[in-house]
Amino acid sequence: MSTLRFNVVESAFRKKAAAVKIPDSRPCDYFGKYVFGREQMSRYLKSETYSSMIDVIDKGATLDRKVADEIAEGMRRWAADLGVTHYTHWFQPLTEGTAEKHDSFFEPNGKGGLIEEFSGKLLVQQEPDASSFPSGGIRNTFEARGYSAWDPSSPVFVVDDTLCIPTIFIAYTGEALDYKAPLLRALSAVDKAATDVCHYFNPGVQRVFAYLGWEQEYFLVDEGLYAARPDLLMTGRTLMGQEAPKNQQMEDHYFGAIPQRVAAFMKDLEIQALQLGIPVKTRHNEVAPNQFELAPVFEECNLAVDHNMQIMSLMRNVARNHGFRVLLHEKPFKGVNGSGKHNNWSLGTDTGVLLMSPGKTAKENLRFVTFVVNTLKALYHHNGLIKASIMSADNAHRLGANEAPPAIISSFLGSQLSQVLKHLAENDSDDIISFGGKQEMKLDIPQIPEIMIDNTDRNRTSPFAFTGNRFEFRAVGSGANCACAMIALNTAVADQLITFKKDVDALVEGGEQKMKAIVKVVRRYIKECAPICFDGNGYSDEWKEEAVRRGLDCETSCPLIFDNYLKPESIAMFENTGVMTRKELKARNEVKWEMYTKKIQIEARVLGDLAMNHIIPVAMEYQSKLIANVHKMMDIYTLEVADRLSAENMRLIEEIAEHTIYIAAHVETMIEARKSANRISEEREKAIAYHDTIAPMLEQIRYHIDKLEFIIDNRMWPLPKYRELLFIR
Ligand code: ADP
Ligand code: MG
Repeated sequence: MSTLRFNVVESAFRKKAAAVKIPDSRPCDYFGKYVFGREQMSRYLKSETYSSMIDVIDKGATLDRKVADEIAEGMRRWAADLGVTHYTHWFQPLTEGTAEKHDSFFEPNGKGGLIEEFSGKLLVQQEPDASSFPSGGIRNTFEARGYSAWDPSSPVFVVDDTLCIPTIFIAYTGEALDYKAPLLRALSAVDKAATDVCHYFNPGVQRVFAYLGWEQEYFLVDEGLYAARPDLLMTGRTLMGQEAPKNQQMEDHYFGAIPQRVAAFMKDLEIQALQLGIPVKTRHNEVAPNQFELAPVFEECNLAVDHNMQIMSLMRNVARNHGFRVLLHEKPFKGVNGSGKHNNWSLGTDTGVLLMSPGKTAKENLRFVTFVVNTLKALYHHNGLIKASIMSADNAHRLGANEAPPAIISSFLGSQLSQVLKHLAENDSDDIISFGGKQEMKLDIPQIPEIMIDNTDRNRTSPFAFTGNRFEFRAVGSGANCACAMIALNTAVADQLITFKKDVDALVEGGEQKMKAIVKVVRRYIKECAPICFDGNGYSDEWKEEAVRRGLDCETSCPLIFDNYLKPESIAMFENTGVMTRKELKARNEVKWEMYTKKIQIEARVLGDLAMNHIIPVAMEYQSKLIANVHKMMDIYTLEVADRLSAENMRLIEEIAEHTIYIAAHVETMIEARKSANRISEEREKAIAYHDTIAPMLEQIRYHIDKLEFIIDNRMWPLPKYRELLFIR
């Protein structure tokens, strides 16, 4: 009998909520305590140094060596006061996590003692030995080394005894090897393009920021149960498991009372997040059992991305202190909802205007419509690319199932906005815009209410929904780095705004009044990008057929979806905006395909091991028990009676045999399929082989294992079951 399973279930069940150390002070007192923010800078830097630093942050000014040294020294003193002994460049390679290599501030002074030192040079640039990070071949062809360079727009922070310095990570030849470098380029492209368009409406605008508010979904699982599931441990998801009799059908978990042990985890997490300057705000139970969500207030996109990366690692650490493991995988359990990370995205000016927000005057509303329509147009032209930006082996399980956005990118606008756009598009007369006596402008479109946020008018099935003053990109995966989606989206919008400005300027040069020119171009765009707008049920089969007719990208194979990055229009878009070169795009795709293959490969290995070493032996053992029982029946009854009484056992014996034969044979076939896929040298072709042949086998084998779980004596089953993983908290 599997005593392991019973012991871990028993101990998981008895776990009590851990005590949380609540600080004496209020959140506003400890918010940002571990961040070298403006307040800390003003205390630790001389006033000229402080001003130079602010210029670097706000205006992207360059730092001279002397000032860098002074900033580094100020940082070190601040960190030393917090007991910090080490520092690290903190960067985001093309894996799912972050990377850091800690160095001590202390060095031998040559006289048998130590001195404490941190120079501007060490702050600004490092050369981590990075040959083991994915580069898609970029580094092999040139220098093996890459270097990390400080991103002063995201503040340094302290974790434990280490000062963490956010950096970009690039090859010696300049190609980005991380997410941050292209993200910063994309944000600067959208800043420039949107500022230019803003000047039609307000010449005083100097900068446009992209904002991001992410909503992080996750599961918590008791750590003992987790440790007894090699599949969770190795792949982050369950590769097998019979659905629990009850899961989310009662809809009793969403917004339900938060269980005590989970609440303790959340409190602890939030305190630590606030100390890191992450403005966490919302927490609640999600739809699936043991699924939860955390959301901060939105921030400038680069900072929001860093904060999300920090929160994911913080969650992993804090969960362990509460006897949990956090699952950030997009689909840890079959049959219950997966986890996403909604990316609420918008643009806003340095004058404090949210560009996707309706205003009070006709001009403000035309500005609002302009930015919304350009976003839709960008989404339409690059709908395959935008899908590729959120695609991964893990997220593929979620997209397309009836729970998450489908694998087709469309946008939900709601009835009010749809009506406004329809009116603008259909009313071809010039009177739609008129100018009163005192140059007062009028726009003949249905009243746009200032606040459009209407909770009854929200379509949960849309991957890209307009929600009043922003778009909510819902297809992003829970474990993903938001940067990947944000690079594609901001670049597409930047590129589109550049085109828009050209189109409007051409009309103006031809003698058209500026506002009328804008209306004309917007009107044309609304008609052109109509196919991307869809307010119906995104889960329905009719939509899939309709989307094909509309010419939207309906591909579902992950390796093929990545091809979108290398389409001529995608390369042109990234190159025009200076965000990524063809070479960088190619290299990144190599990494994407390789990652895809490795994920499926690991899952296949783990499933093979579990099937052969855990499941089949137990199935045989139980089968032997049944056979012994049949023999004993024959000993004590006449053949005829024994036959009748053993009929059910005989059936089970056969059924177990059928399942185990299938499993054993298919594990063999899967190994052979891997061997042949591994011989393919092209990463793309290899990923396609893994997608087409190996991934489906995982499902087929699982089907038979799940059947066995249903039949075999509960006491013998070697793994914690869904009902335990999902309901013990
Ligand atoms: P819901 O789950 O109802 O969509 P939440 O409150 O959980 O809403 O999360 C909404 C997120 O959107 C928050 O992070 C919020 O700060 C963010 N947000 C609100 N307005 C904007 C905006 N204009 N731009 C970007 N993000 C925004
Ligand atoms: Mg939301």
